[in-house]
Amino acid sequence: MKILAVDVGGTYLRIALFEDRKLMRKIKTRTPITGGRLEIAEEIHRLAVELGGEVDEVGVAIAGLIDIRRGDVIKMPNNPIRSFPLKMPLEKMLAAPVLVLNDCVAAAWGEHISRSVDNLVYLTLSTGIGAGVVVNGNLLLGKDGNAHEVGHITLDYKGRRCGCGGKGHWEALASGSSIPLFSKELASKWRGEKTRAWKLASNGEISPPELFSLWRDEDTFAEEVVLELARINAAGISSVVNVYDPEVLVMGGSIALNNRDFVELILKEVKEYITNRMPLVDLTRSGEDAVLKGITLSILRRPRTLDFLLKD
Ligand SMILES: [Zn+2]
Repeated sequence: MKILAVDVGGTYLRIALFEDRKLMRKIKTRTPITGGRLEIAEEIHRLAVELGGEVDEVGVAIAGLIDIRRGDVIKMPNNPIRSFPLKMPLEKMLAAPVLVLNDCVAAAWGEHISRSVDNLVYLTLSTGIGAGVVVNGNLLLGKDGNAHEVGHITLDYKGRRCGCGGKGHWEALASGSSIPLFSKELASKWRGEKTRAWKLASNGEISPPELFSLWRDEDTFAEEVVLELARINAAGISSVVNVYDPEVLVMGGSIALNNRDFVELILKEVKEYITNRMPLVDLTRSGEDAVLKGITLSILRRPRTLDFLLKD
């Protein structure tokens, strides 16, 4: 079976042609952030033409909240286009059935199948923070397909506004897109040495790669920021483990995949917050293709809960 798999992330859009489970060709580009409500569907169509070939089915995994029945995006917190239809316009443009899932939900299902583990959470630390959850072999979906929005767990009830509009959410504090503002706030309270990281952070200009690189160079301000971020992520991860009780926690996303030493630091802090037994923690073995593989496996080995949800 020929499947067109699409991963619409906060920063990058990846599109690939699969023959059954095998990735044949892939294009990676930046996710459109301007234009009308059909911009993302049109970009997917343009890239699909570039990839070439007829496909039997299409799977689109998106970093946002969806209406799973309609296949619409209700809210993409890290994209100014925000809400837009996908399933209807893409089915017309591509003349094939389209399945729309949340990106981490798709990745969780893919990891569940490839690892044969029945209790699993896939967690991404990236531009945003998200998860997908499999409990006792069932993919959790909820009434609209959003039963896993852990990035919007409130970790600080008086905290900063999130891209979604809520207050003090994990993603608003510690996601890749929140790092410049979070660092700037800490810089204004910092009484220590005025280091290179402090200067960049004070101007609101520190990027995640710069922050982690200066942390490795033992910049004292960068050490402070990274330790705070590790504690926030530890509190979030502990909440996820306490709620879903997974056997395996698979981590993905650019922040986790590019900074394994940071993941180690987070795991050291987890003991402060956790109550359930700690699961095995592993990085995804599919790297940046975790979501593409996951959405493909969601078509090839359709989750039972998905059929259950879509039948009424
Ligand atoms: Zn939020």
